[in-house]
Amino acid sequence: MINYDRILIRYGEISTKGRNRNKFVDKLRKSISNVLHDFTGIKIEATRDRMYVILNGADGKEVSERLKGVFGIQSFSPAVKTNKDMEAMKDAALALFQKKYEEGKTFKITAKRADKSFPLNTDELNHEFGGHLLKNVPGLKVNVKKPDINLQIEIREEAAYLSCETFQGAGGLPAGSGGKAMVMLSGGIDSPVAGYLSMKRGLEVEAVHFYSPPFTSERAKQKVIDLTEKLSNITGAVALHIVPFTEIQQLIQQQVPQNYTMTATRRLMLRITDEIRRKNDGLAIITGESLGQVASQTLESMYAINDVTNTPVLRPLITMDKSEIIEIAQKINTHDISIRPFEDCCTVFVPASPKTKPKRDKVRHFESFVDFEPLIAKAVENTEKMIIKPQSGKEESFEDLF
Ligand code: ATP
Ligand code: MG
Repeated sequence: MINYDRILIRYGEISTKGRNRNKFVDKLRKSISNVLHDFTGIKIEATRDRMYVILNGADGKEVSERLKGVFGIQSFSPAVKTNKDMEAMKDAALALFQKKYEEGKTFKITAKRADKSFPLNTDELNHEFGGHLLKNVPGLKVNVKKPDINLQIEIREEAAYLSCETFQGAGGLPAGSGGKAMVMLSGGIDSPVAGYLSMKRGLEVEAVHFYSPPFTSERAKQKVIDLTEKLSNITGAVALHIVPFTEIQQLIQQQVPQNYTMTATRRLMLRITDEIRRKNDGLAIITGESLGQVASQTLESMYAINDVTNTPVLRPLITMDKSEIIEIAQKINTHDISIRPFEDCCTVFVPASPKTKPKRDKVRHFESFVDFEPLIAKAVENTEKMIIKPQSGKEESFEDLF
C-alpha cells in the first residue's frame, strides 16, 4: 500500500528574488519548522526551487493544515517519491490514484521531465501513465480541460515525484525576510489587520500600544495583549511595547486648543513609536489608517501628523473600505477581540470636534510652547516590553484567505 511520504512545497515569489533567494529559503524553512515544531521525526529538505517536508510517519493531513498558514508558500502537494523505474512509477501512480478516485470522476496526467536524460518525453509519459490508469480503473474517463483529478508526475535527477492534489498556500513572503517594523496597535479593528498584512509581506513586527491609566482599564490592556497573541500565532512570538501615555495626554489637553488635541496626540504617539523603533532596530512604522475613515485620517491630517518623522510610515489599509478590513479581521480571528467594548486612550480624550483639515504649521506652533522632550524620554523609559507567545497548539490556519 502506497502512502504519501512527503509534502512538496512550491515557493511562489521567492523564485524571483535573485541573489536573496538563499535567505528567503532559509526563512521559509524556519517558518515551516516553527509551525511543525511538535512533530518529531519530520525532516525538511530545501532545494533552490522547492522544499519537501518528509513525513516519517507524521499525519500528512495535520501537517497540510498547518502549512496553509505559512507565508511564502504558493502551493503544496502531498507527494510520493519513487525511483525512476517505469514499473515502480506506474504502480505508485495507480495506487495514489485509487485512493482519490470515485466512480464517475475524470482525470488527466501532467508529466514534467526536469531530467532531460530520461528516455521518455512529456507526451510519451502522459500517454504511458494515462494508458495504464485507463486499463486498470474501469469506467475512468479523460478530461484534459477540467479534470477532477490531475495526477502530476515529475521526473527529476534524483527521483520521480507523484501527487494527485494541490493546495493553495498563504502566499506572501516568508516571515522575517523583509526586516522589522513597529505596528501601532490601538485595540481597534484596523491595526491588527495592518500588522497581519505586513507580516504577510515578510515583515517581522513588534507592537506598540499607548495606554492611559486610570482613564483606560486593565481590561483594555488585556485586549491588546490578546490581539498581539493572535498575531503571534501566525509566525511566532511578537514583542509588545506598552507605553504609559497619561501624563502626555493630560499635558496636551491643557496646552493645545481643543480642536488640535487629536492631531498633537497622534504626533506625540508617532514620535515615541519612532524612538522605540530606533532602540529596537526597526526600519518602519505601520498604522491601521484608511483614507477618509475618520477625522484623523484625511490626507491633510496625515500630512500634519507625519511631519514629525522621516521614518517610512506604512499604511497597508490606506485604500481599503471598512467592510474589506472587517472581512480580513474575521478571517484572522482578531475581529471579536477588537469589538470588545473597552475604551482606548484616544476615545477617552477625543475632542467633540477634531479638525478634519489640521494645518501643520498651526500644530507646530501650539506644540512649541511645551517642552515634550523630557516627557517623551520618560514615556520611552517606562515602556513595558512583553514577549507574547503563541497559544500552544493553536496555530491559526487560514483556509481560503485571499
Ligand atoms: P484602529 O481600528 O486600528 O483603532 P481607527 O480606525 O480607530 O484604527 P484611529 O483611532 O484614528 O483609527 O487610529 C489610527 C491608527 O493610529 C490606528 O490604526 C493605530 O495604528 C494608531 N493608534 C491609534 N491609537 C493608538 C493607541 N492607543 N496605541 C497605539 N496605536 C494607536
Ligand atoms: Mg481606534
